[in-house]
Amino acid sequence: MHVLESSMYVAVNMLGDSVIQHLEKNGSGSLQSHIKDLSALLSLRITVISKTGDVLADSDQDPLTMDNHLRRPEIQAASITGIGATARYSTTLGREYRYLAVPLALNGEVLAYIRVAKSLSEFAAEVTEERSMLIRNSIFIALLALALGFVFFSQQANKLEHLIVVLKDFTNGKFEKRLPDAGSLGLSEISESINQIARQSEISFSRVAEDRNRLATVFTCMVEGVIDVDLEQTILHVNDAAVRLLSIVSISFVGQPICHAIRNQTITDALDRAIKQNTVERAQVVLQRDLSTITLDVYAASLQNDYFEPMGAVLVLHDITEVTNLERIRTDFVANASHELKTPIAAIRAITETLLDDRAIDLESTQHFIKRLHAQSLRVADLIQDLMTISRLESSQGISDYSKVDLRALINRAVEVAKIPAGEKNQIIETKLPDEEFFLFADSHNLSQLLDNLLDNAVKYTQDSGLISIILECDRRWVTLKVCDNGLGMSSDQQQRIFERFYRVDKARSQSLGGTGLGLSIVKNIAEKHGGSIEVTSKIGAGSTFTLRLPTDTGAATDA
Ligand code: ADP
Repeated sequence: MHVLESSMYVAVNMLGDSVIQHLEKNGSGSLQSHIKDLSALLSLRITVISKTGDVLADSDQDPLTMDNHLRRPEIQAASITGIGATARYSTTLGREYRYLAVPLALNGEVLAYIRVAKSLSEFAAEVTEERSMLIRNSIFIALLALALGFVFFSQQANKLEHLIVVLKDFTNGKFEKRLPDAGSLGLSEISESINQIARQSEISFSRVAEDRNRLATVFTCMVEGVIDVDLEQTILHVNDAAVRLLSIVSISFVGQPICHAIRNQTITDALDRAIKQNTVERAQVVLQRDLSTITLDVYAASLQNDYFEPMGAVLVLHDITEVTNLERIRTDFVANASHELKTPIAAIRAITETLLDDRAIDLESTQHFIKRLHAQSLRVADLIQDLMTISRLESSQGISDYSKVDLRALINRAVEVAKIPAGEKNQIIETKLPDEEFFLFADSHNLSQLLDNLLDNAVKYTQDSGLISIILECDRRWVTLKVCDNGLGMSSDQQQRIFERFYRVDKARSQSLGGTGLGLSIVKNIAEKHGGSIEVTSKIGAGSTFTLRLPTDTGAATDA
C-alpha cells in the first residue's frame, strides 16, 4: 500500500467509529460541522455518503450542491470489497486527488460510507516539508551528537592524559598519586589493579628506602673503611672511613676504576684474587702518611648474587695502627724490662762469683762487695716493684680503691717522707697549701705513689741546698698541684720523652741514684686514670716544674 493510502486507511478507520457514534446520537444534522472539525485536525478532505449515494457531509464542499456519489469507483469498490481506493482528477476542486472509502457498518448493516481524500500536490508538499524538516532535524541531531561527542571525547582525552602522567610517575618509581576512576574508559578494573600494585609498591619502596638509609648510615658510621666494587673493579660505594684511611681525596672516585683511587699493589692484588678466585683474601699494608705511618688489615671478599653468580667484591680496611703500636710497646717493654733486670742480676752474679772465688779477700773488700750486692739487690727490688705497679695499673683493678682523700694530709705525708733524703742534701722543701681542708675522691694509695715519685725525682735531680716547692691550688673544677725545683732541668726534647717507660735523660746518673726509668710513666698512668694530666716545663740548669691537674669530680664518686 502506498504511504499516503496507509495513512489514509488509518485515518478512515479512526474516523469511522466517530462518525457512526455521531450519526447514532445526532443523525446527520450537525454532521457537516463535525466533519469539518475532523478534517481540520487531520488535514484530509472527509466526505460521508449515505448508502444510497447522497452526500451527507463534506469537509470542503456544501453537500447540497454535490451530486450522487454511489457510482464513484471508490464507493463501488468499498461496497463490494470493504475498501475502495482511487486516484483521479476532481472536477469539483480542480486537482488530482487520491480517494479512500470504507463502509460504515453497525451490527453488520451498512449505514453509510466514509471517504477521505488527499490532494497529491498537497501531499507532495507535505512530504517535501516533512523531508526538509527531517533533514533539518537530522542535521541538528548530528551537530548535537558531534558537540556532545566532542565534549565527551575531550573529557576522556583529559582522563587519558592524566592516566598517562600517573603511569609515567609509577614507572619512575613515584607512587604518591593514584590513577583516576577510568570506568568511563572501560578500564575501571585495570586502573584499580594498577592502583593496588602502586599501593603495594609504595609500601615496598618505602621499606627498601628505609633499609637503604639504615645501611647507608651504618656504612657511614663504620670505623672500618669499606669500598664496594663491581666485577670490572669500578667503585660503587666508598664510605668516609675508607676515604680517610686511604687518603682518597673525595668520594668522587665513585664510578671510577679502583686502581685510580688506590695505588697500593698489595690491596689491588688482594681484590683481584678475591674476584677471580671467588675467595676472601687478607693482607696487611703499611701506608705512609705525612709524618707517620698507618697499618691496615685488608679483607677483600667476593660478592655473589642470589643465584651465586659473582657480582663484584667488597674491601674492608681495618686500621690496626694502634694495636700494632701497643704490640710493639709491649714487646719493647718486655725487652727493656729484661734488659734492666739483666744488668743488676749480672752484677750480683759477678760479685758473688768474685766473693766465692777469692777466698783470700780482705774484710774491707768484702764489705765493699757486700754493699754493692745490697745496692744491686735494691735496684732489682725497685725494678720489680715498679714493674708490678705498672702491671697492676694496667690491669682491670688498676685504680679501684676510691675513697674520700684529704689531699693536704696526703701531700704533707709525702713531704715528710721526702724530707729525709732532702735533708741529706741540705735541700729545703716548702709547701703552699690552701688553708681549708680539701677532699677528693681518689685512690689514696696510688695518689701517694704519684706524689712520692714526683718528690723523689725533685730531690734526686736537684743539687745540694736546692729548693723544692709544692703548691696546691683548687677551684670548683680543678685541683692543680705543682712540684717545682731549681735543679738540673732538661731540654725540650727530653721533656717530650721523660714520661716514656725506661726513658732517662742520663741513664748512668739515674741508675746511680736508684732510678728505674719507670717513675714518671707510673705518675702519668695514675694521673690519667683519675681523669687528669701531668705536664712538665723545664730549663736546663734552672729547674723543672711538674704540673698535675686532677678534676675535682674524678668520676669516681659513683664507683667508690
Ligand atoms: P728515674 O727512675 O730514672 O727517675 P723517671 O721516670 O722518674 O725515672 O724519670 C725519668 C727521667 O726524667 C729521669 O731519669 C730524669 O732524667 C728525668 N727527670 C725526672 N724528674 C726530674 C726532675 N725533677 N728534674 C730533672 N730531671 C728529671
